[in-house]
Amino acid sequence: MNDEYKQSAPMAAPGDPPLADTVLEVRGVRRAFKRPHGEPLVVLESVNLNLHKGEIIGLLGRSGSGKSTLLRIVAGLIKASDGEVIYRGEPLHGPAEGISMVFQSFALFPWLTVLQNVEAGLEAQGLPPDEIREQALRAIDVIGLDGFANAYPRELSGGMRQRVGFARALVMNPSILLMDEPFSALDVLTAETLRTDFLDLWTENKLPIQSVLLVTHNIEEAVFMCDRILVFSANPGRVVAEIKVPFKHPRNRLDPRFRQLVDDIYSRMTVRHATGKATVLSIGERLPEVSTNLMAGLIETLASETYKGRADMPALAQALALEVDELFPLAESLQMLGYAELESGDVQLTPLGLQFAQADTQVRKVGFAKQMLTRIPLAAHIKSVLDERPGHRAPAVRFLSELEDYLSDSAAEHTLSAVTQWGRYAELFTYDDAAEAFSLDMPEAEAS
Ligand code: ADP
Ligand code: MG
Repeated sequence: MNDEYKQSAPMAAPGDPPLADTVLEVRGVRRAFKRPHGEPLVVLESVNLNLHKGEIIGLLGRSGSGKSTLLRIVAGLIKASDGEVIYRGEPLHGPAEGISMVFQSFALFPWLTVLQNVEAGLEAQGLPPDEIREQALRAIDVIGLDGFANAYPRELSGGMRQRVGFARALVMNPSILLMDEPFSALDVLTAETLRTDFLDLWTENKLPIQSVLLVTHNIEEAVFMCDRILVFSANPGRVVAEIKVPFKHPRNRLDPRFRQLVDDIYSRMTVRHATGKATVLSIGERLPEVSTNLMAGLIETLASETYKGRADMPALAQALALEVDELFPLAESLQMLGYAELESGDVQLTPLGLQFAQADTQVRKVGFAKQMLTRIPLAAHIKSVLDERPGHRAPAVRFLSELEDYLSDSAAEHTLSAVTQWGRYAELFTYDDAAEAFSLDMPEAEAS
């Protein structure tokens, strides 16, 4: 990584306070998706953001909070239902010159070499072949792929493939780079190498880009890379907090101030869940698809001597080697079932949670069934339909179509799959995979 891009305009050194120079503005953006039945699914509501020259903005939120949808709107790939995106003083209509995107899944053409993959975007612009070649080779060099120009994607490691993804975006000479979880498909060490390499190029002004929008669900990554972090809530996706990151690059993850900020953001991301017992769930409430084994494991961990019933979520995530996207749904499922409370970044077992930890399997199952029936309306609904029906059977599609009135198709499937797994554990009802039907009968093997 050595060759430099020429800067067309003077640029603020990243780490300086962001200049008032706005390069892109998102104004009151709303996005809804039509559904076959029921109300449209509102994915983004009233989103505003100003992207300034010289800054990296992080869009941080759990899976399903609309981050990718917002990025696709900014990339001009889909339209906002309401509101607008202003780029270079004009409302954006479709993909714009100067805005490039790096995807999580690399999105390379497998039948093209690295060089041909990088050239592909430029060819569409109708530049002369020797100029295309020159620019592609320069991007390949900058991003650390020299020597790999003639390799095919299948010959490359995940990290190298993602470097091709970066080169493909950079060769377009963008002023704004959009990145959708670009490191999340990589192993931990490779991801860290790519982040650091990217930040080195950025702080040394070796990239053509002026500003970055980075989508992530990883709090640490956001604090490591971004100057400003917008925290998204889900259903609908809204910006619920804006956090400035005051540290210069290179940042030290072990610095107490770094840890403190990570901790603060965890708190903000859990605060909306601290609604206590007043929360009444509806049948259409999305259920986190986490296994009862994991739930029992987390309850036991929390009940152990180490935690004595209460743990700081970042510390717990680190101790269990889990990411926020894994720990949150898990802790949230315990909260839904009444086994734990989430509050300002901590997860705390309730008395019921402590009882669960001490109980044997059969007592656990009976208690779990009771919690499901009283706290999860979908579970109570399935149970009562099965109770009423002759033969005590009902096809899954019946509940799926009910859920689709509230949730997107994929969320409905995940929710039904979660309640199925929980209900089997609790022996509330069972599910016949072949017949795709729920029933009250226990299968032979489990009936004993
Ligand atoms: P994130 O990137 O934060 O995980 P997404 O923007 O991918 O979230 O998705 C947000 C919500 O919008 C999800 O519930 C998803 O199912 C829904 N969604 C995204 N794209 C579509 C689409 N084309 N049609 C219907 N629903 C969609
Ligand atoms: Mg996404």
